[in-house]
Amino acid sequence: MLTGCEAGFLNVPKIKGTHLAMKSGIIAAQSIFENIDKNDEILEYESSIKKSWLWTELYKVRNIRPSFKWGFWKAILYSAIDTYIFRGNAPWTIDHHGTDHESIGNKNEYKEINYPKPDNVISFDRLTNVSFSGTNHEENQPCHLQLKDNEVPINTNFELYDNPETRYCPAGVYEIVLNNNKPKLQINAQNCVHCKTCDIKDPTQNINWVTPQGGGGPNYQGM
Ligand code: SF4
Repeated sequence: MLTGCEAGFLNVPKIKGTHLAMKSGIIAAQSIFENIDKNDEILEYESSIKKSWLWTELYKVRNIRPSFKWGFWKAILYSAIDTYIFRGNAPWTIDHHGTDHESIGNKNEYKEINYPKPDNVISFDRLTNVSFSGTNHEENQPCHLQLKDNEVPINTNFELYDNPETRYCPAGVYEIVLNNNKPKLQINAQNCVHCKTCDIKDPTQNINWVTPQGGGGPNYQGM
């Protein structure tokens, strides 16, 4: 069963999904409970989702995110029409533009963005933020961020894309270090907060996130 973010249950215009994660979790639990004595596939989950307010809510906003493939301003205009004139019931459904990793372009097509440095008052560097997650992994376990081909991070990601994994990873897991004056990808797997962005976003799909040993991972406190 796919629930919450795993199933993409996010109301994009509201940028809210917690209530949908909770609702899909409740429906999943009910579906399991009602079929607990049957040693068979649970088919009610999908139909129960479709009968719930979760489906009605998400159906009405289904065209908003895909419309951004036309560019920001066209998407805003379309979204206003879809929301206020069709009220989410337009007689069409717009396709998404493709996969996330396909949207990464060659580094020569873009200008470098110089982000402001953290002020340590309301913004902090990545490693300080990672410390708030309480993430921890057993030492000496096999790296749970596996590369299908060890050459790709430098020969492809570095040469063509300027290593996007060093920027999209929220935990600073991926670093380019110099080894005998040659760039090398270093993977600081112990900092991983299990967002799985690298598994989705790597331009050649070379990174495979696997479950770490020993139940390690983020351990958020005070939530
Ligand atoms: S799963 Fe997320 S936090 Fe972990 S290495 Fe990948 S991008 Fe970084």
